[in-house]
Order: sequence, then C-alpha cells, then structure tokens
Amino acid sequence: MENPVQSLRQNYTLFCYDTITASTGITFWHTLVQRQYSNNPMGDMSKLHQHAIREELSDDFHTDGMNLLRDLVNQNSYTLNTDGVNLAQEIVSHKLAELGLEVEHYPLCDPNEPRGNIITASSPLSKQNDGKGDVILSFHSDTVHHPDSPFKTLRLKDSNTLEGPGAYDMKASLVSAYLATRLLKKYDLLDNLPLRMIINSAEENSSEQSREMIRKLAFGANRALVFEFGRGDNVIVTERYGFKKFIATAKGQSAHVREYAEGVNAIEEIAQLTLQLKALREAYPDSIINQGKIRGGSDTLNRVPDFAELRWEMRAASRELLDELTSQTMAADQSMDERAEITICEEKFISPMESSPATQELFQNYTQAGALAGVTFSAAPKREHGLSDGNILSTVPLSHDQSKTIPVIDALGANGYGAHTEKESVYIDSIIERTHALVAYLAEYELRS
Ligand SMILES: [Zn+2]
Repeated sequence: MENPVQSLRQNYTLFCYDTITASTGITFWHTLVQRQYSNNPMGDMSKLHQHAIREELSDDFHTDGMNLLRDLVNQNSYTLNTDGVNLAQEIVSHKLAELGLEVEHYPLCDPNEPRGNIITASSPLSKQNDGKGDVILSFHSDTVHHPDSPFKTLRLKDSNTLEGPGAYDMKASLVSAYLATRLLKKYDLLDNLPLRMIINSAEENSSEQSREMIRKLAFGANRALVFEFGRGDNVIVTERYGFKKFIATAKGQSAHVREYAEGVNAIEEIAQLTLQLKALREAYPDSIINQGKIRGGSDTLNRVPDFAELRWEMRAASRELLDELTSQTMAADQSMDERAEITICEEKFISPMESSPATQELFQNYTQAGALAGVTFSAAPKREHGLSDGNILSTVPLSHDQSKTIPVIDALGANGYGAHTEKESVYIDSIIERTHALVAYLAEYELRS
C-alpha cells in the first residue's frame, strides 16, 4: 500500500520545490496543503491553502464542534463530582475513538482522594512504538464549577462568544483536539503521528495519585503541548512557578489567665511565625508566600490557649529558590517561649516548570507552525505564577537521556476570559485559529520525523 508520507514527499518534489524554500520544517506543511488543494490556481499558494484549511475547520466547528462543546459544557464536571467528570470524559473519548485513536481509562482508586478516571487517546503509531518518542497533548475535562451553581449551560453570548462553565478552561481545547484529529485523519496523516493525548480528570484539584498517574502516562514521550486556556495576547507559556504547601502547629501550655505566666500562648507563637514568613517574602521579592489559614485557641477567653495552627503556600520560579525558602522557613522555626513546641510539615510539593534549550526549540517550532496558520505567537514576558499539568509533565525524564526532562509549552488553548468565574467565555474564532495552529504543528511534525 502507498505510504502517505512518501507520497507527500513526492508531491512536494513535484509541485512545491520551486515555490518554497526547502530549508525549514514548514515546507512539509505546505506539502500537505499542496496535496489537498493541488487544483488551486497559481498565486500565493501558501496563503490560499491555509485560507482553505481555515474554512474547513470553521465548517467543522459549526457543524459538529459546537455540539460537542455544548455536550461537554452542559455535563457538570466539577473535579469532586467524579461521576460527572467520568461522563464528560466519555463524551470526548467516544468522539476520539470514532476517529481511530485507542482510548484507555486509568481509574484513580485512592479512597481518601476520589477523582474521575484519567484517559489517554493514542494514535496507531504510538501504540505500535509503545509510546516511545510520542508528542503528548495535555488536556483536562474537570472544572471548578460546583453542580449546585446556577451557571450550568453553554449559551451564545454574541456571534463570536460562547459562555458556559468550563468552556474556556478548557473544554474548548477538547473540541480542538477532536477537530484537529478529524482533519488529520481525513488527509491520512493521523496513523503516522506518534501522538498521545492525556485527558486529566483532576487538574483543578489534583491528588497525589493523579499527579503520579500523569507522570507515568507521559513516560517515553519527547515533548508535551499543554492546552490550558489561551492568553489574549497570544503568548505561549514556557515557565511556571512551582509551589509548596506547609502546615505549622504550635503547642503551648494551658493555664488560667490569673496565672498567665504559667501558661504558654500558642497563638502568639503562630503569630510570630506568620510575621517571620512575611519578612521572608520581603527578603525574596520573586517569591510568593501566602499565609492562608490560621486557627487555634478556644472560646474560653480566660484560658491561655495551648494550640494554634497556620497553613500557607509558597511559590517560586525555580527548585533552588523553593529549597532555599524551605530551609529559611525551617530556620525561622524558633519559638519565642522555649517551653513552646512548633512543628512545621511540608504538605504538598509541585515542581516549577522550567525552560531549557529544548523548550525554546519546541516554542520556536510551534510559533513557526502558528505563523503558517495565521496566529502570531510570542513568548510570555514573565513566568506564570499559576500552575498547570505542565508543571507535572516538565518533570518527566527523557527516555533516551534521563538526566534531562521533556520540554513543555503551555497555554495553547483558545482565547476568552473569566476562567474560574461565572462569566467564563471563549471566542469561537480563537477555537478555530488555535485548532489550525495545532494541525499545522502536527502535520509538520509528522513529516519531519
Ligand atoms: Zn485549566
């Protein structure tokens, strides 16, 4: 049987060589559009063909993608509504399976932190190669919108804006995954792509088990594209802060207030620690330290309180800085009264997503593909303070060089506004545009590899 890649390369030689510079990977994408629209008249070929592809994606969105988005948004998938998340996962995985991707379910069984099933959808080549050298496309189907919220359904707000819970973050990206796969399949490009989609069930409220599973499912890949919601200025995120969560408990000594000196006031000890953390944040202006919850004492105000607790979160751009802040925090653990006992525990750690030369290369390639699809991407001017599955994927070792980790780029989803609010909305033209950029990247990637 004819190998479509070889056939495309022949087409390239026959039709494209004189009009396109062969030195960039983008030329292969021109090959795809050349084959697709080889009857088009002379002129600015690439612009003409990209225009036709955009039209096709637009038609696909309006005939099918919009319905898929409605089904996904109208199905509540608040992270802790595990039945709802599983139903949303079924809606999208059914569509992907119809296109020939192999869908697999990974239940998260920890009874202490119940979450929906994580899903992967893999191309035939990915299965054949056991995932080696895959490109990961990372999504999540869960949202922050509680089933009791009155914000429940997708509605057309104006001719280009769709409003609904999770529409922007990030159910529109699941629609992009479907539309891109469908177009690639139509032009015989899907089977030869080393493609693995990972659809998380618990991005908005991850668990130890979900994070570990994402890492495991990405193993063997050599790059990852994360489809968190797009930014209005079309920036691609290549670096994100990491974080740690801490809990400190102070144990003092209870006493009646008339014998105050016999007591040790635990609230004062925790208040002192709170101020030490404020000083630490001021000493490291690039860090974020947020004392989020404090509790302790009792309603009996004539007793010296013997218990207080503080919980806080710390964010920083590098592992080194997080480690430095941690050791400074532990050093700050000096009780004012030597009879008091303060214990500090690290509750949770998520590594920063750091950039490497491979990340920059991936960024360049995606930007180039974007340019071809008419999207002008640029690098985010500063590191994102927020986290995503990009943080987790960026800790996956490269299978051929375990001293390095896979490059990850993020915020590749459609533009909109109001993520995590009841005004959450996504722009239709942006869904189509970002899908086009993804198709351009994947078509180019397949033919180059
Ligand atoms: Zn998200």
